Amino acid sequence: MNHKEKENYKNIRDWIKPIQKSLTLESESQFINILGREKLFNEYLYESFKKIDKLEFHKDNLLKIEQFRQKYLEYNKLEISQRRRLVIDTRKFLYKISKTINQNLVLVESSKIIKSEQKFSNLSLLSEVSEIKGVGNVLKENLNQLGLFIVKDLLEYFPKTYLDYSNKEKIINLRPDNLYTCTGTIKKFFIYKSKKNINMSIMNIVIFDETSSIKITKFLLGKRYRSYSFVASLKDKYKPGIKLAVFGKVKSTDYGRSFVDPQIEILNTNENAINYSGKILPIYYLNDSISNISFIKIIKNIIYCSSRYPEILSNEQLSSLSLLSIHETLSNIHIPQNQVALDEAKKRLVFDELLYLQLKFLLRRNQRNQNILRSNIVPHNPLFDDFLQKIPFKLTKSQEKVLDEIKSDLISSKPMARLLQGDVGSGKTIIAIASLVFIIEHGYQGALMVPTEVLAEQHFKNLLKNLNSILISVEILTGNTSQKKRKEILSNLENGQINILVGTHALFEEKVIFNKLGLVVIDEQHRFGVNQRNRLLRKGENCHLLSMTATPIPRTLALSIYGDLDISKITELPPGRVPIKTEIIFEEDLLDLFEVIKLELKKGKQAYVILPLIEESEKLNLNSAKNTYKYLSDTIFDQFNIGLLHGKLNAEEKNNVIEMFLKKDFQILVSTTVIEVGIDVPNASIMIIYNSERFGLSQLHQLRGRVGRDSYQSYCYLVTSEKNSNSKKRLNVLQKSSDGFYIAEKDLELRGPGQILGYKQSGLPDFVLNNLPKNKILIDKAREEAIKILKNDPKLDANLILKNIIYNNSSNKFIHDFLN
Ligand code: ADP
Ligand code: MG
Repeated sequence: MNHKEKENYKNIRDWIKPIQKSLTLESESQFINILGREKLFNEYLYESFKKIDKLEFHKDNLLKIEQFRQKYLEYNKLEISQRRRLVIDTRKFLYKISKTINQNLVLVESSKIIKSEQKFSNLSLLSEVSEIKGVGNVLKENLNQLGLFIVKDLLEYFPKTYLDYSNKEKIINLRPDNLYTCTGTIKKFFIYKSKKNINMSIMNIVIFDETSSIKITKFLLGKRYRSYSFVASLKDKYKPGIKLAVFGKVKSTDYGRSFVDPQIEILNTNENAINYSGKILPIYYLNDSISNISFIKIIKNIIYCSSRYPEILSNEQLSSLSLLSIHETLSNIHIPQNQVALDEAKKRLVFDELLYLQLKFLLRRNQRNQNILRSNIVPHNPLFDDFLQKIPFKLTKSQEKVLDEIKSDLISSKPMARLLQGDVGSGKTIIAIASLVFIIEHGYQGALMVPTEVLAEQHFKNLLKNLNSILISVEILTGNTSQKKRKEILSNLENGQINILVGTHALFEEKVIFNKLGLVVIDEQHRFGVNQRNRLLRKGENCHLLSMTATPIPRTLALSIYGDLDISKITELPPGRVPIKTEIIFEEDLLDLFEVIKLELKKGKQAYVILPLIEESEKLNLNSAKNTYKYLSDTIFDQFNIGLLHGKLNAEEKNNVIEMFLKKDFQILVSTTVIEVGIDVPNASIMIIYNSERFGLSQLHQLRGRVGRDSYQSYCYLVTSEKNSNSKKRLNVLQKSSDGFYIAEKDLELRGPGQILGYKQSGLPDFVLNNLPKNKILIDKAREEAIKILKNDPKLDANLILKNIIYNNSSNKFIHDFLN
């Protein structure tokens, strides 16, 4: 492979990664066309498929890319099931490309090690799947479609979940509200249309064993489930007499006990049940053409090859860390003998990922610290002191402490890399501004980077308000800045006339060149990826970084996610804040609530009404901003002025709406979660959140943080139609606590870290995150081990496999995540 090819492969890989991430997010969000930082999912995909001019693809792939591009244009018109199909097809397609690339790139290097062992057996890690016993042409095609080309791919294709047959129960013993695995024979199958939701079909299967029988209920969302042919195929699949394994929760219903939405596996051959009775059966993500059992057979035929899988840890390391070897790990993952063996295997995989991450952090930090920066900064700062004098309030103790930490970083010889954590409303903005003033006074420029245009505008105004415009010039650059203005800004930035540039993602662009960039501040940093932040940092020489976030990172995770940053915390709110009263309200009680709210509005206060969707969707039974806006303005609140804000408005429209809300032209602002970050309208004291059960706790906490911003009593109403105890339990956490850290810990407990806003950026696979709470101690171990490794081998030259993984980012082999 020549250099150019290699570059192209790497570029393609960089192009694919963010697309894959957004596809994952969209799947997890049930295909609602999620709003990303600035764009809707489908717009993002459409544009990404357009940005391929620097990449070289095979012409077949080019054609496919063009086809996908067109399809994403129409994404909004597709039904959920069609969207799912499209997303799956796209993922498969990209996966296939990246597999080919990885084979070419990564394996070229590690093959030296692998090849030397090849002669010991007929199959090697690099053998084509067609060389495996029992894999003919058809099976080979099917495997290839899943992105599996060689033995190594199979070993790395992990089960999505496991059925624990060792915990099998007879039907008669099933108790409501517990999880069970159960096998039985189909007695009856029927499917009918939901009366409540025209897009929902409900499938019922009754199974029996020698003790009793039980109903299984599955909800099928989407029109395709109504088609005659689909129903016919289901009927055929679940014929009476067929044996099933069922895994899931048993609930008690009006018609007796029932498995609700369990996983169902067809045990079409008896051998299946016999082979796995008393054991743990892995379940793989497969397409319709390969059955789980035939896949397991293939795996059994190649599992011995796991002994050739490259090991990154020495025997001494394995035993001192009490971890399984990679060989044992892979066999346990695919063919677990019992739950303990499986847990041990997962532990090893989690450890590896954490180790990679810590190594990357440490290497990055070492590299940074080699760059010795500006020599002596004089601690004489009249401009800065004057600025502090003129702030209309007194900084809290916590703010002062943080500012001191930042100042001492800024005058030291190493570039700062600091994460500033502070709950919503704790006053991070003023710290950002102060830090910028400080660095400007020492002859540098500063950049303030935010995730949305609305927030950029707000910060810009804040800067103008707080800074003396004669001494410090500030500009704003967003995707919305006019061509003429943009040109002017870029030229003044390059010649150094602009001191501070505020902006959105527009700041990343290549044409944005600073004269002497000294400090990058990133607000709401969880909205950005590490690569983005680095791109901005590279615009200056050994630039300082201040990353700010209100997303409280639970202590247990901070190290694994932000291990390369120093952390400062604002631990108190400005004085005089009255705690927000939070209440859970059922939808049917809204009318009463509205009467209470009218009274508040008449006193001159303002309210936010938050909805999960912009427009009504046939597929999702949720309230939308547009409909609610219309409903509220036409009926209940017709004597008030109401504004509407959502992600589809352009930047100017958005700013106008916020501006009008600030000026009290509206009493009520109906909005989607676009207002989640940063917006500061201190007079607003009421927050109503519809379908609140749909949001994460941390996100609700952020939303709630839009009120309670002055000394007036504020209220937050969490509206829900869900009466089940679980969602009540979650919402109760918010009612009881206003401590962002506590809430995040609870979120972690109740939903798992993968779900929490911001963790996606950590680069850790979901299965690692999901298993972290169980394995907290591994984080420390991984860190210690990483330090040890680098102490003896600072550039990893003695461990080429590891080096390869770290520098080529090829550790993302686990594309399929465990369900825990
Ligand atoms: P966040 O940390 O969520 O970004 P902001 O920086 O937007 O919070 O601050 C919230 C509000 O509190 C703003 O209106 C700000 O002017 C005000 N504020 C910040 N620090 C103090 C302080 N020390 N005393 C009083 N008010 C403050
Ligand atoms: Mg803020």
